[in-house]
Amino acid sequence: MAVLKPVERPKMECETEHFLMAQRQLDEVALEMGLDRELHERLRYPKRALIVTVPVRMDDGTVRSFTGYRVQHDVTLGPAKGGIRFHPDVNLGEVSGLAMLMTWKCALMGLPYGGAKGGIRVEPWKLSAGETERLTRRYTSEIINLIGPDKDIPAPDMYTNEQTMAWIMDTYSINVGHTVPSVVTGKPISIGGSLGRNEATGRGVAYCVKRAVEHYEVKAKAPTVVVQGFGNVGSVTAKLLHEAGYKIVAVSDVYGGIHNPDGIDIPRLLAYVSEMGRVEGFVGSKNVSNQELLELECDVLVPAALGDQINQKNMHNINCRIIVEGANGPTSTEADKYLHEKGIKIVPDILANAGGVTVSYFEWVQGMMHLFWTETEVNNRLEEIMGRACDQVFEMSTRSGLRPRMAALRIGVGRIAEAKRLRGLYP
Ligand code: NAD
Repeated sequence: MAVLKPVERPKMECETEHFLMAQRQLDEVALEMGLDRELHERLRYPKRALIVTVPVRMDDGTVRSFTGYRVQHDVTLGPAKGGIRFHPDVNLGEVSGLAMLMTWKCALMGLPYGGAKGGIRVEPWKLSAGETERLTRRYTSEIINLIGPDKDIPAPDMYTNEQTMAWIMDTYSINVGHTVPSVVTGKPISIGGSLGRNEATGRGVAYCVKRAVEHYEVKAKAPTVVVQGFGNVGSVTAKLLHEAGYKIVAVSDVYGGIHNPDGIDIPRLLAYVSEMGRVEGFVGSKNVSNQELLELECDVLVPAALGDQINQKNMHNINCRIIVEGANGPTSTEADKYLHEKGIKIVPDILANAGGVTVSYFEWVQGMMHLFWTETEVNNRLEEIMGRACDQVFEMSTRSGLRPRMAALRIGVGRIAEAKRLRGLYP
């Protein structure tokens, strides 16, 4: 592959390995689609990045300072959208890379948003509830000039949840002097959250599995599925596919996995997990390690736990026909290319797990209209948007011979580039 000669400029602070991975994906697709050089250059870096110090009074009376970030990669099509994570690995490069991926994901789904991400470098499991609330509220007030329903709309991510969103919404509302539910999504239903938001990502993954099985002509009457991760995304995906007549032959969580070639009874497993806190030991199945689970023979493998699970170490042993990425970044770049050559189809994360941001968009729309939809309306609209995006990616991939990940990126990047071209460069 010919390599684009980058424009000479001093290195930016965000250019860590994590950010450069996202940037290289953009470079690859830009080269492939012959993207205008100036537009390409404008998309290679975040539009804005804010680093804040967040002082917090701890329960023991001392004050500790944490570092927080909010990055907006692009706002060409509308306000920026992206999660807020609390994790010790959070840094400017990681947040900037994830913000860029959010831009492509929103554009691919046809949502009127740009991409953002934020976070605080903290070990959230070491904080009390009171410390977490004070941290969240002070962080919100530090980034308050950047966020707003027309500017940038945060959502939950790693180690943040609907309670975190309620605190952000409250802090913002108190500061502007009136209630503004649409400043965040992923809120509790009682303060303006959307029905269907909790299940949305798993529902979208399950939907992509069905579309992919049709498109790639898996003939089995009950296609076999392996799911890594049995949290929000993995368990909803498994439940919905089980209801649709698929045979879920293995699932796992952080402690290990279970395998039953005759199919696992998912409703009974859900009841078992709510009592035991893990999948291991479920009746009628054999325990397997997470590593063994990824290498089991099946029609569809759904990694729905962590990033970098399918990589150079295990890519030779992957034994499925289709991978549908529930997690963010579960397949390394090398494995992605290798498996594509081997004929294994990969439905990429920016498509497969976009159900969450899509229903976040519905939550924002409902909040702005002050008109709330039924769960059936939410689910039907989600299916419509997921279906359209799946068709576009499969069609582009077939027509251009690109692997689905590159096809998805090409659509997303193409839409932003076109909007930028039409709007022009100010002044
Ligand atoms: P979660 O915390 O609800 O569940 C994660 C699951 O993964 C748990 O079952 C956990 O036990 C398991 N797990 C953790 N470490 C593991 C390991 N080393 N091996 C195997 N399993 C392990 O999280 P979630 O919301 O289901 O998110 C899962 C993935 O999906 C993450 O990559 C997340 O970024 C991505 N994602 C989530 C959403 C969403 O709306 N929840 C949206 C987009 C992407």
